[in-house]
Amino acid sequence: MRLAARMQRVPVAGIYLAGPSPYEGCTVASFAAGADERACDEALLRAICRHVCDSGQPVIIEDVRAHPLTAGEAAGLPGPVAVAAVPLQTTDGRVPGMLYVADCRPRAWSADELAELEDLAALGVTGLELHAVSAEHAELIERERRRAERMQQLAATLARVAACSEWESALRELLIGAIALLDGDYGVVQMFGPNPGERSLMLRVERDGTVVEREIASPFPAGSFAAAIQAGSPAMLVDDFWTLDPEQYSLREKLQQQGVRSAVIAPIEAGGQRIGSLHVNHHLPGFYGPAELSLAETLAAQAGAAIERARLTTARRQAEAAREQLQEFMALVSHELRNPLAVLLGYVQLLRRPEPLLKPEGRLRALDALDDAARRMRRLLDDLSDAARIGAGHFAIRPVRMDLVAAARRVVEHEQRAGPGPRVVLTAPERLEGEWDRERLEQLLVNLVRNARKYSPPESTVNVVIERYGEAARIHVVDQGIGIAREAIPRLFQPFTRFATTHYVYGMGLGLYICKAIVDTHGGRICVESTIGRGSTFIVELPVCNASCVGRSA
Ligand code: ADP
Repeated sequence: MRLAARMQRVPVAGIYLAGPSPYEGCTVASFAAGADERACDEALLRAICRHVCDSGQPVIIEDVRAHPLTAGEAAGLPGPVAVAAVPLQTTDGRVPGMLYVADCRPRAWSADELAELEDLAALGVTGLELHAVSAEHAELIERERRRAERMQQLAATLARVAACSEWESALRELLIGAIALLDGDYGVVQMFGPNPGERSLMLRVERDGTVVEREIASPFPAGSFAAAIQAGSPAMLVDDFWTLDPEQYSLREKLQQQGVRSAVIAPIEAGGQRIGSLHVNHHLPGFYGPAELSLAETLAAQAGAAIERARLTTARRQAEAAREQLQEFMALVSHELRNPLAVLLGYVQLLRRPEPLLKPEGRLRALDALDDAARRMRRLLDDLSDAARIGAGHFAIRPVRMDLVAAARRVVEHEQRAGPGPRVVLTAPERLEGEWDRERLEQLLVNLVRNARKYSPPESTVNVVIERYGEAARIHVVDQGIGIAREAIPRLFQPFTRFATTHYVYGMGLGLYICKAIVDTHGGRICVESTIGRGSTFIVELPVCNASCVGRSA
């Protein structure tokens, strides 16, 4: 533009391109010698440009203030007053704008000067076209590069999903891949259950792969996109959640709180059936377009078969594990019953002996042993029926007003008398009353004290400490026994959990499972602190309920 200004001996020159409407346009190159106010006014240029583009002819204005085309726009404006503009005509005959020069005093342009300006315009067009072509070319190359990169990412994600033998990890891989591919904030998969409106699994995964939400076997929230996909809707592109009808999409509020604005949602299919939906969300409105939607569709559709395969493998494994567990359980039960049964049969044989061979003390010992064996069998059967009740969700308590300390005293005395083993010492206030199920609370104490004795050396002491702790009663059962490994603690309160000991200790791994159910139904909590080789402390906290309780702290 500097060259144009110098050749035409004017202070101002520029290229102005028309916009899509008569009220738009822009200067793409300009030169103004000296002060800024010499630059031409936008409105003025727009008016001249419109005329040049419409007519395809040059426009020469000796004084903008007097010319009919510009008088309205130029009144009182500082800057150039004479303008010469020629059309920029592209090789395909279009006129996208003009080349103009302007002077700060009124002047005319000779035919030679105009011809020179037209030559300069032709040069300008070539430059502009070259620029546009190279920009288009660079854009094309960039688009291809991104496409290839996305295809590579897609293939890598599908390979990772296919390599998973676990259903959940396959879904997680799918989400991680989809979020990376679509540059999403987070992703969700919903796997459909057998009935409409049901989902068997929902996973929400963040960009870094962490699972932040997981739900199994739950209904879809009302007005959810997943329900629509399950009902057969095609893949969906949500431009802006905030513009959706809140009546129809009740989830809008939740998404709004999470800062989500746009999303792509695609069905996951396997064997011609819809098995789930894939959702990738973004915080910017309009972030996704049809290209991203079709990418999500491809990914979800192709991952479907791999996910279904992983789901079947997981189901088979679970069935095998359940079968193994059942076998183990049956072996455990028969083993635990066989022991007292052997004692029973043995002593019955003994008692059959004629009078002179069995002395009265021997007869008494045999009866004690029979009694003990029968009680053990009854306890096993009671534990089994309790466990069945807990499993079926039918475990209930009947709270009455009672004294915890009196119950603990009874249990401690009874367990102490039960046989050789660690001493049991009770430290407690005189009374601690609350509303609890008497029988269940005694069962809880028996289980904890019996375990403490079972897993401790005979010469050690088991301490039972009861205290009032605010609105709760606290029971500590402290032993100096074998202890429990830190990694075993999370499984401790699950049914049929038993850890190897150096010698046989009877039990079916149900005691602590039942203890936890008793504590939970009372609204309390149970936990354990333990060190291998040093001993364990089981701590139970039970709310005492109501103001009528009269416990005293130790
Ligand atoms: P069990 O009837 O087999 O003892 P529990 O449910 O009462 O079943 O206990 C489960 C397992 O927890 C036991 O097999 C044992 O390995 C461990 N355990 C429980 N209490 C203690 C304790 N006080 N010290 C060490 N290990 C314990």
